[in-house]
Amino acid sequence: MSLQAAEAISEIENLYLLDAQMMGLSHYGGLYILQAPRPAIIETGFSHTVEKILAALEELGIRPEQIAYILPTHVHMDHAGGAGFLAKTCPNAKIVVHERGVPHLIDPTQLVESVKRAVGPMFPYYGELTPIAPDRIMAVKGGERLELGDGYQLEIIAAPGHAPHQYCLYERRSKALFTGDAVGIYRREATGFTMTTPPPRFHYEQSLETLKKLRAFELNWLCFTHYGVEAQPYRLLDQYEKLLGEWVNTVERAQRELGDAQAVKEHFVQQELKELGAYYPERMLRPEVEMNVQGVLLYLQRERGFNPR
Ligand SMILES: [Zn+2]
Repeated sequence: MSLQAAEAISEIENLYLLDAQMMGLSHYGGLYILQAPRPAIIETGFSHTVEKILAALEELGIRPEQIAYILPTHVHMDHAGGAGFLAKTCPNAKIVVHERGVPHLIDPTQLVESVKRAVGPMFPYYGELTPIAPDRIMAVKGGERLELGDGYQLEIIAAPGHAPHQYCLYERRSKALFTGDAVGIYRREATGFTMTTPPPRFHYEQSLETLKKLRAFELNWLCFTHYGVEAQPYRLLDQYEKLLGEWVNTVERAQRELGDAQAVKEHFVQQELKELGAYYPERMLRPEVEMNVQGVLLYLQRERGFNPR
């Protein structure tokens, strides 16, 4: 079948990847549709992705009423922004949310405000959030298993580190792991790995614990939200662990040398502009890098008594 909206993943039967064209970039952020007897949508993208999702469902011959589960891995807007809108269109779907994220989707006011503060001029790309009625939400904390039929089963894995309200999903039939942001951003054909360590609750040791937990599963594939399906899962998990360790150490060292948080951010912005400027416009790269630095600085302050000036 030739699809306009969603790409069939040849390695995994009945799995489709939809490019959300996040920030106007191809192959940067996406979501998955698993066309099992009880179909599931994994991640939602920003609110403005919802129309594309509905077009993809139509193309696949899935009626919105058939959707059983909508699974944003965490309540950052590029993962859960469309959840409230999809909940309205897919009346029988349960919205599966980590218990720590639930309050933010029932009343998104605070979440929207904090995103606005963090991303500044990029905010228009983030769309909107609409509240979800509590009875539509299935709160999870890890360990739950959702049966989708035909042997498809999604296991929820609590995955703190990037954010405390994050889970990953293990699909048992295909041995695929949906990583959310727990394994960073991986764009094989472009930037390779980049880390994602945002404020306010990035936590290094928890990230390591999560990676260790993920390694214990029998894995064939990693399905990255950012972006796409990759083989050699264990090699990639190792690679991300190494990158994360180096990143936290580098930020700590820069903070010691430069002293001032703003100078530290600017140092890394300039460095990343050189390294990644071919792939991302500065208006996007700058707030991303600043967030990644800020996340580590807050972590150092909170967990290691480190005092950024
Ligand atoms: Zn995130």
